[in-house]
Formats: sequence, C-alpha cells, structure tokens
Amino acid sequence: MEYFPEDVLRDYGDEPTNLMLDLWHKECLKQFKNDIEVIMVDRRHNPQLRDIPGTVNSASPCVFDNKMHLALWLESVYPLEPVLVTHELGHWILALRGFKRKSGNSEAWTRWKKQTKLPAHDTAAVSRWKAQAALHDCR
Ligand SMILES: [Zn+2]
Repeated sequence: MEYFPEDVLRDYGDEPTNLMLDLWHKECLKQFKNDIEVIMVDRRHNPQLRDIPGTVNSASPCVFDNKMHLALWLESVYPLEPVLVTHELGHWILALRGFKRKSGNSEAWTRWKKQTKLPAHDTAAVSRWKAQAALHDCR
C-alpha cells in the first residue's frame, strides 16, 4: 500500500506540523518508552473508511513494513493539507495525555501501554489493539 513517510509530512508541512510531530514523539517516548512514526495514507486505502461518502479524516495505529505506525487517513494527501495533519495528530496527543490524566491505572490506559510494546509481527495482538483503539473519524 502506498503511504507517505513522516519525512514527507515534515518537508511539505508547515511549522505547526513539525511542532505537532515533535510533540507526538515526545509524548510517545514519555508514555510508551517507545517511539511510533507517523505516516500519511489516502483514506481510500482503509477498508473501514473507503466507502464512507463525503469527507473523512481519521487516524489509527497500524502496522506497515512490520513496524507500528500512527497512520493519518486523510481525504487529501496531495497536496498535503497541514491543518488536517495537525488536527489528527492533536487527537492522539490529547488521547495520550488525557488517558493518563484521567486515571493512571484505567483499564484502557493499561491496555494501550501494554499493547504498544508488543512486537509488530504479533499480528493477532495488533488486530486486537486496533479493534480496541477508538477510531475517531472527523467528517
Ligand atoms: Zn477531529
């Protein structure tokens, strides 16, 4: 599947895009002790989002090239629209922070932390994680 690596987001994004990417990595390292790269994909490549009429932008954790990524599923990938990138990243940065602030031992948070550390080749575990991770669709 065709996707755009984080370098592209940094090169073609604006200053806030880079700032949000930095924030994402900072939060990942803090919460997971593990880094997760961000990629951008046309939402039409996502079977869950492909057939939804109208404008859909979303983001979810996914495995590409045997590695965990945060995939931004966007309506428009070319030209890159920085506000879509920062918006979707913002949701996940807030989710990481919010989960922890709400309750450090909440079931959802513990599950998230545990599963983020799972090796990417454990496809069954990744499927479970993906199913549990709230899929936020911005229309
Ligand atoms: Zn939104």
